[in-house]
Amino acid sequence: MRVLVAGGGLAGLASATVLAEAGHSVVVVERDGFLGGRAGAWTETLPDGTPYQMERGFHAFFRQYHCLRSLMRRVDPDLSVLEPQVDYPVHGPDGSVQSFRDLPTSTPANVATLAWRSPTIGLLDLSRVKLRPTLAMMAFGDHTWKRWDGVSAKDYLDALGFPPDARRMLFEVFSHSFFNPEEDLSAAELLMQFHFYFLANPDGLVFDTMRKPFSTGLFEPLRRYLEDRSVAIRTDTELRALHLGRAPIAVETSDGTESVDAVVLGLSVPGLRELARRSPPLGGLLGEGLGALEVTHPFAVWRLWLDRPVRADRLPFVGTVGHGLLDNISVYERLEDESAAWAKAHGGSVIELHGYAVPPELDEATIKADLLAGLEAVYPETRGAGVVHERFLLRHDCPAFRPGSHAVRPGVETRDPRVKLAGDFVAMPFPCALMERATASGFAAANQLIGEERQPLLHGPVRGPLAALRF
Ligand SMILES: Cc1cc2nc3c(=O)[nH]c(=O)nc-3n(C[C@H](O)[C@H](O)[C@H](O)COP(=O)(O)OP(=O)(O)OC[C@H]3O[C@@H](n4cnc5c(N)ncnc54)[C@H](O)[C@@H]3O)c2cc1C
Repeated sequence: MRVLVAGGGLAGLASATVLAEAGHSVVVVERDGFLGGRAGAWTETLPDGTPYQMERGFHAFFRQYHCLRSLMRRVDPDLSVLEPQVDYPVHGPDGSVQSFRDLPTSTPANVATLAWRSPTIGLLDLSRVKLRPTLAMMAFGDHTWKRWDGVSAKDYLDALGFPPDARRMLFEVFSHSFFNPEEDLSAAELLMQFHFYFLANPDGLVFDTMRKPFSTGLFEPLRRYLEDRSVAIRTDTELRALHLGRAPIAVETSDGTESVDAVVLGLSVPGLRELARRSPPLGGLLGEGLGALEVTHPFAVWRLWLDRPVRADRLPFVGTVGHGLLDNISVYERLEDESAAWAKAHGGSVIELHGYAVPPELDEATIKADLLAGLEAVYPETRGAGVVHERFLLRHDCPAFRPGSHAVRPGVETRDPRVKLAGDFVAMPFPCALMERATASGFAAANQLIGEERQPLLHGPVRGPLAALRF
């Protein structure tokens, strides 16, 4: 087959990898000038002329991301680019810290230990927690979508009856990490995430990070791997329309029109909607699924090159709650080599602040003032530090997972067997999310076109231990 893969993010590249390994002729078109999509990195320049790799920032590589790790092993068999982190501490407003390290590896022992260790829950509080909705977390299964998809994550979390501080410290970190505001996030998606990231994950919430920028650490080696297998990679090239008559399919790109036997659409949600607008038959293939595809609130990434270092005991990454828009702080020189070299040469720190589900009406100055106040509250030593350079991104392209959207969310298959979808917004038959969902759906799209499970789709348990009770 000659296959066009549109989108050079993880979903598209995962598909291209499996198709090329199976001997098919693959063309990847990517609208941006670099590979990796939302996890990609591109070159910018510091005021002194030094080039650096800018990204949308910190990404956690969880250990149960079996498909992503399999993709990465193609170019790094020992995963030597990953650095294990020891904890995912969450810093609350009054100096409290919730740790997720050294928890038992199975449910319910992990939940019981977490609750016991939590500084925000006492025995009296536990006795007030509502049992049935709380047990729904351990009962994830197919029925969860039916029972909870129509409910918002906010209503679900309110119904648990946890004290406000505990609710914030234990649960906000989950809902915010998926970019969607709680009131507009499906409770079933949230329950799937609890299951996938914590309850059914023997490694708990502890993860690995990348020692290099994502370009040098992953996407440049992957580009070489694909090109060695004769994949044509065309960056700065947009897929503009699909003409889905009888075989072959005519694809219109910014380079011209060509014919292919099959297409994998590994596009972002805005990219897919735009394509469907230009190619009405695609809208027909996706049916009401297209209506389920929306973007959620914007997110902000602010990288700051400071003229003095943060305290030596600061971890490379911490989550934050109760500090306005701030969701996490990364100390970049403790994460990756390029920033480490800058910090060493200049005696400073490279800090990155993230704010997810940012209310769309806020402007850049307001967001920055809010994030800075959060940084100074959590790491007071940064007060008054000089800013040598800064780079602020406010982007609006992460998928929404609205209450009620699961029933119509499109999967990898479309009504035309020659056209497959892949991306972190696609419905999958097993629990997965974010980078893992993107990669797994890309693998699944390639498997379906090839007609066999050429790439095993490894995943964890599909049901929680109490699933039979159907809470
Ligand atoms: C700030 C931030 C932090 C994150 N942190 C984490 C984390 O810690 N852990 C985690 O697992 N995930 C994290 N994620 C999510 C992760 O980045 C995404 O889930 C993943 O990268 C999505 O991959 P994708 O291939 O589905 O989509 P994308 O990466 O969006 O790729 C789609 C590609 O399609 C291209 N495109 C669109 N339209 C066209 C067109 N018409 N023609 C050609 N190309 C087109 C786009 O340019 C893009 O490159 C984070 C995301 C952000 C933004």
